[in-house]
Amino acid sequence: MYDVIVIGMGISGISSAIYLKRAGKNVLMLEGSAPGGIINNIVNIENYPGIKSISGPDFAYNLFLEVNELGIEYKLETVTDVSFDSIKTVKTGSGTYQAKYVVIATGRQPKMLGLENEEKYLGRGISTCALCDGALYKGKHVAVIGGGSSALSEAIYLSNIVDKVYLIHRRDEFRGEEILSKEVRNNSKIELILNDEVVDIISENDEFRGIALKSGKELLVSCVFIYIGFLPNTNFLKSTNINLDNGYIVVNKNYETNISGVYACGDVIKKDIYQIVTAASEGASVGINISNL
Ligand code: NAP
Repeated sequence: MYDVIVIGMGISGISSAIYLKRAGKNVLMLEGSAPGGIINNIVNIENYPGIKSISGPDFAYNLFLEVNELGIEYKLETVTDVSFDSIKTVKTGSGTYQAKYVVIATGRQPKMLGLENEEKYLGRGISTCALCDGALYKGKHVAVIGGGSSALSEAIYLSNIVDKVYLIHRRDEFRGEEILSKEVRNNSKIELILNDEVVDIISENDEFRGIALKSGKELLVSCVFIYIGFLPNTNFLKSTNINLDNGYIVVNKNYETNISGVYACGDVIKKDIYQIVTAASEGASVGINISNL
C-alpha cells in the first residue's frame, strides 16, 4: 500500500513525485514508455527558465537522474485499468498496486492525419519525431505538416539536415510562436505550402514515395513528419466516471478531479497552456497539495 501512485514519468509526474518524496510520502511511479515522456521527442528546449538551451533527451535524462537520486520507486509498466474507491487500485500488465491517492500525468500522444495506410508507413515514410528519424533523410526532400509551434520548430530543425522541407499548413496563418514563424519564413530551405492539405499517400511497390494534396499537387518526398497536435492518453480510465472534456481530464484549482483523491497534471488535463514549464508547475502543485492533506 503506497501513499501515492503517480501514473506517467513525464515532467509533471516527476515534478509531483519529487515534492511528494521530499515530504516523506511513500510514492510509486508507473511508466509505460520512456521516462521523460514526450520531452524525449523534442530537439531543443529554449524556453525553460534557467536553462538557455538543452536537448529534449538530455532534459529527460536529468529528470530520470533526479528520480534515482531521490530514491523514488518506479516500475516501467503500462497501466491497463484502474478502480478509484476509497482505496485506489492500479493494474498493469505485471501487477496490481494500491494507494491512498493517485496522480494521473500520462500526457498526450501525436495526432495522426487519418489517411489510408498511414499506420502502415509509420517508421518508413511517415514519422511523428524529427529528432528520432530526421538524420535518416540527410540530403533528401521531406515534408512537415502543421502550423503550430511543433511543426515550425521541427521544420527548422530538419532544414539543417535535409536539402528541402515543404511545410504544409491548412491555413495561411501559423498558430505557432511568432519568433518561429519569422524564422520559418526566412529559411531558404523551407518552402511553404499554405491553404492545402494532405489527402493521400503515394506509394510504389509498397514503398512510400510521397503525398498527394487537396490542391491536386503531388509531392515526392522521402518522409512526412506529422505535427498536427495531440490526443490525451486517457483510454485506461474508461471504466471510471472521471470527468473528461474531449478526452482531457477536468480538474479543479487544486488539480483534483471529480473523484476524491485522484489528481491530474500536465498535458493530460484540460487547460489553455501546454508548456514544459506549466507541466512542471502543475506537478509541483499536486505534490504540495497531497502532501498537505
Ligand atoms: P497545436 O498548437 O495544436 O497545432 C496543431 C497544428 O496542426 C495547427 O496549426 C492546426 O491547424 C494543425 N492541424 C490540426 N489538425 C489538423 C489536420 N487534421 N490536418 C492538418 N492540419 C491540422 O499543436 P503543437 O504545435 O504540437 O503545439 C502543442 C502545444 O505545445 C502548444 O501549446 C504549443 O504552444 C506548445 N509548443 C511550444 C513550443 C515552444 O517552443 N514554445 C514548441 C512546440 C509546442 P490550425 O492552426 O488550422 O488549427
